[in-house]
Amino acid sequence: MAKLKIVKVGDDVLRKKCRPVDEITPKIIQLLDDMAETMREANGVGLAAPQVGILRRIVVIEVEEGNLIELINPKIIAYAGEQDGTEGCLSVPNKWGMVKRPMHVTVRATNRHGEEFEISGSELLARAFCHELDHLDGKLYIDVARNIETVPAE
Ligand code: ZN
Repeated sequence: MAKLKIVKVGDDVLRKKCRPVDEITPKIIQLLDDMAETMREANGVGLAAPQVGILRRIVVIEVEEGNLIELINPKIIAYAGEQDGTEGCLSVPNKWGMVKRPMHVTVRATNRHGEEFEISGSELLARAFCHELDHLDGKLYIDVARNIETVPAE
C-alpha cells in the first residue's frame, strides 16, 4: 500500500465529474487500498478518488474505526429526514462549516468483488455518504456550507 497525495481546494481536479468504473482491475483494488491508507493517515472519515487526483467514481469511508466501507460507482437511492452539523474536508484543510444533510441515506454501490450491494447510514455516516458522493460530481461542501470557520491551530 502507498500513501497518496491529497489534492487541495483550488485544484481543478476537484471540480470535475468522475467517470464510472466499468471493470474492477488490480489497479482499482490497489487504489482502494491506497485510498484507505491515505484516509487513515490523514485522520479522515472519508475520501473520494478525485481527492487523490483520480477521476473515477470511488469512495472510501470509515466513520467507525475498523469498519471500512468501499464504494464503487455509488448512488444515493433513498434519503429521509434532515440534520444540521459541522463538516470538514481533507481537501479544505483547517476549516469547518455548517451543512444541512439528510439524517438517513441509503446508497447502492459495487464492492471490490464486482457485487452490487446496498448500505444505509444515519447521522455521521449519512453525512459522509453525501459529502463523499458530492466529490464525484465536482462538488465541495464549502459550496453549500454556512459559517465557514478556520479551526484554531493546536
Ligand atoms: Zn471532502
